[in-house]
Amino acid sequence: TLTVVGSINIDHVIRLPQFPRPGETLTGSDYRIVPGGKGANQAVAAARAGAATRFIACVGDDALAQSLVDGFAADGIDIGAIDRITGINTGVALIQVNAAGENTISLAAGANGRLTPEQLNRYGEGLNCEQLLLQLEIPLDTNIAAAGQAKAQGARVVLNPAPAQALPDDLLSLVDLITPNETEAEQLTGVAVHDEADAAAAALVLHAKGIATVIITLGARGVWLSEQGKGRVIPGFKVKAVDTTAAGDTFNGALLAALQQRQPLEQAVRFAQAAAALSVTKPGAQTSVPYLAEINALLES
Ligand code: ADP
Repeated sequence: TLTVVGSINIDHVIRLPQFPRPGETLTGSDYRIVPGGKGANQAVAAARAGAATRFIACVGDDALAQSLVDGFAADGIDIGAIDRITGINTGVALIQVNAAGENTISLAAGANGRLTPEQLNRYGEGLNCEQLLLQLEIPLDTNIAAAGQAKAQGARVVLNPAPAQALPDDLLSLVDLITPNETEAEQLTGVAVHDEADAAAAALVLHAKGIATVIITLGARGVWLSEQGKGRVIPGFKVKAVDTTAAGDTFNGALLAALQQRQPLEQAVRFAQAAAALSVTKPGAQTSVPYLAEINALLES
């Protein structure tokens, strides 16, 4: 199976003509509450793409928490290790989307901050997965503990290093496959990624940390796929972008679903890019994550 350890957020999404400047008030339209959080989005993307998926996470005791967990169950995710923590809110994200489909995001971690190594240990010794998928919206210690356990059990450890932050070698040295976007790659390596040469240079820095496979996502341009220091661009799919929220999350979940089915890496990347392209054609996070049949239809078109 695939185990995702990560965050759950309630996304409050408002569409605006452009982002307000500091001190400015703008009236937007189309306010929605949408299930989000990088861990949850990636678990949902993996499950909808056909993977048997277990999700280790925490929600708060607010009114929306149960409906989020019910949603994961409806997607076929194993929810046995999602705990409800009393006295705290479920994670929240305030998301603004402009007319170009770009977003800005503010987070309040809430219960995601309670996914500590101790909490993980209530479920983690049974991680027993073939693949572990991590992101950076839970405490760093928990990611290190999870990666260490999974690695010791021979699992593939995959890190989507988002949101962007610098990371200790303790974590990076446990990672088999890393999937930064351009901003995250720069944060991790100090190399600003604008073109293929930059992507190659950034990937080399990550390989030097002991990471065998580096996939730098390049937005609409596709990805830089680098194995053991040899890289190439794999182009993405052309679609009309409405809202790029969860493009990276969809990519990660779908990638692991394809790898779980033993697809070769390049084929898995194409599958993941088809899923991610579909996600940018719809608004919201989990509301935009496609199902296997839609992904296969785009791949066959
Ligand atoms: P993030 O959402 O984490 O910033 P990216 O923007 O790099 O990540 O997007 C991840 C992947 O989603 C890309 O590699 C690409 O396959 C796909 N994608 C993103 N934006 C578009 C787009 N406008 N058109 C088609 N595919 C896209």
